[in-house]
Amino acid sequence: MPVVNRVADLHNDITAWRRDLHAHPELLFDVQRTAGTVAEKLKDFGCDEVVTGLGRTGVVGVIHGRKGSTGKTIGLRADMDALPIEEASDLPYKSTVPGKMHACGHDGHTAMLLGAARYLTETRNFAGTAVVIFQPAEEGGGGGREMVDDGLMDRFGIGEVYGMHNYPGMPLGTFGIRPGRMMAAADALTIDIEGVGAHAARPHFGIDTVLIGAQIINAIQSVVSRNIDPLKSAVVSICMFRAGNADNVIPQTVQLRGTARSLAPDVRDLLEKRLHVLVESTGAAYGAKAKLTYKRGYPVLVNHENQTEFAASVASQIAGQDKVDTSLPPMMGAEDFSYMLNARPGAFIWIGNGDSAGLHHPSYNFSDDAIPFGTSYWVRLVETALPA
Ligand SMILES: [Zn+2]
Ligand SMILES: [Zn+2]
Repeated sequence: MPVVNRVADLHNDITAWRRDLHAHPELLFDVQRTAGTVAEKLKDFGCDEVVTGLGRTGVVGVIHGRKGSTGKTIGLRADMDALPIEEASDLPYKSTVPGKMHACGHDGHTAMLLGAARYLTETRNFAGTAVVIFQPAEEGGGGGREMVDDGLMDRFGIGEVYGMHNYPGMPLGTFGIRPGRMMAAADALTIDIEGVGAHAARPHFGIDTVLIGAQIINAIQSVVSRNIDPLKSAVVSICMFRAGNADNVIPQTVQLRGTARSLAPDVRDLLEKRLHVLVESTGAAYGAKAKLTYKRGYPVLVNHENQTEFAASVASQIAGQDKVDTSLPPMMGAEDFSYMLNARPGAFIWIGNGDSAGLHHPSYNFSDDAIPFGTSYWVRLVETALPA
């Protein structure tokens, strides 16, 4: 069974909503316009309950099936926030906000789930309850965690929860998923080095924090290559090196920032332990104070076995069996849908975005051609899980 006919009819509407969201990107929890638009539409569609302000600016819509709310309850989740990136495109609906853009396709995720809500309120061809979840702050703020902490699962009686994200480079009309670990834990590294500032021509009177920062960057690369089991996965990337304001001054302090990624708890513990030792002892070896702040971020995203199999079977209904890859390798990106999967069984699926620029790239754009597949996946998921 391919794309749902009624969903195909809604394609133009959903595309218009997506482009409106694209033109008005908002960051983290500051998604007032987006959340307002979502809540308004959910009310217009006739959701039985619309709750705003969950997890600060999250929105939830409750849709009962034809047979009332006695059956199971399934949660479907989209994310609403954009990124602090200047959009490099001349799309007619390009970002109207300088320095902000929808570079991760959350505009598409929100629009596709709105489309599903429209269809589900209209047809109600299921027994039980569908809960549509629109979360803020996926891009680093932990909006998913905030919504779970705010009682999302218990309050709405959610038994299973599903998420979806677009995947550039994967053909349109295809899906990808895997059981078990699918995305990494992401921890934030901040390294503060204090030495002794000096004239650049008289380095022997100072303790050079720039040199020490460089040594630390080199030293910590040995953690992945020499401490982690080669058959396991980890990444350590230093992405910021903040030092100095002049070409003839050795700065007193330097700050490095970066990220550590892992797929297993023992690897995560080892990263934290070894990074502390290397940062602090390398600093000490040069007579400086170097301090690592290791902040644990999003946990590993783990797909539950049964729900993954179910999600793959629904995707196969939409796209065809040969268009659903069920053995994608895990990736070292992170997703805060992991908090929802730690709270309830469920599965996270990739949907092909075709040949677009990569996620978080200034030329990225969500493909509107993915909409019928994504929205059909959502509605069939509900109708299959909760048969009327
Ligand atoms: Zn992203
Ligand atoms: Zn994203």
